[in-house]
Amino acid sequence: MTRGNPTVRAAGIVVLVVTALLGSAYLLGRSLVPDQPQRQATGVNTNAEGPYYADQPTGDGPSGSPTASASASPTEAGQDGTGRDSTGGQLFGAHTSTGTPRLALTFDDGPDPRYTPQVLAMLREFDVKATFCVVGENAQAHPDLIQAIVDGGHSLCNHSWHHDVTLGNRSADVIRADLLRTNEAIRAAVPDAPIVWYRQPGGAWTYPVVSVAQQLGMTPLHWSVDPSDWEVPGATKIAATVVSQAEPGSVVLLHDAGGNRQGTVDALRRILPDLTARFELEALPTDPT
Ligand SMILES: [Zn+2]
Repeated sequence: MTRGNPTVRAAGIVVLVVTALLGSAYLLGRSLVPDQPQRQATGVNTNAEGPYYADQPTGDGPSGSPTASASASPTEAGQDGTGRDSTGGQLFGAHTSTGTPRLALTFDDGPDPRYTPQVLAMLREFDVKATFCVVGENAQAHPDLIQAIVDGGHSLCNHSWHHDVTLGNRSADVIRADLLRTNEAIRAAVPDAPIVWYRQPGGAWTYPVVSVAQQLGMTPLHWSVDPSDWEVPGATKIAATVVSQAEPGSVVLLHDAGGNRQGTVDALRRILPDLTARFELEALPTDPT
């Protein structure tokens, strides 16, 4: 037995060394993992920006959205109705906060002559400035609404030409052309409009789309509060989600186009009195650094 003890001690030392090495490797690995979406902390699915032009909710099924016919080929990666990209929803540094105590409301997919004027009127009534992430083809179709957004003191964000959630998987040249075409449509309406934010459709960020947006002088913008209003859950639920999850620095995702958005408009009448009483709201700055 006496000769067995050194062997046992040696084995114990080996176990300790291996354990320490594995622990170090684990910590090193964690430090190399890019920032993950905040949904893990908030319980909010921050990647469900929803199918475009889906007049009816279609859920998150993997078979795709039958009503999202305006989007790209349903056979391509990422076109699953959830807006998730092929990398599992990484943000690649896209902003999820205003970076200040102020809260930002963002309205995506417009402009739409049915809902954008209602949203603008409501914001004006409560003296709130917001940010509109507009789709290029909609900007081209409704330049008067782009002008109205700017006239209202709100800021603009590029939301791609045709709301292609797979855009990030295309070549840098294709991405660049898409984003530039969108900016040109916006500037055809308002020639000197500052466009310093880009939001990827579906929140389906990829390294190329983030890089191209930054090269074009636009900061990638994600969100932190998502009431999934594109699923048409009703004004009560939309308002309850926003009011309960809003906190200093929140970027709230709402939609003023892409389907029936009356629920969103109606929710604003409940959201705005609450948020303006608790927070300072801002249009995202037009000169981010
Ligand atoms: Zn969108």
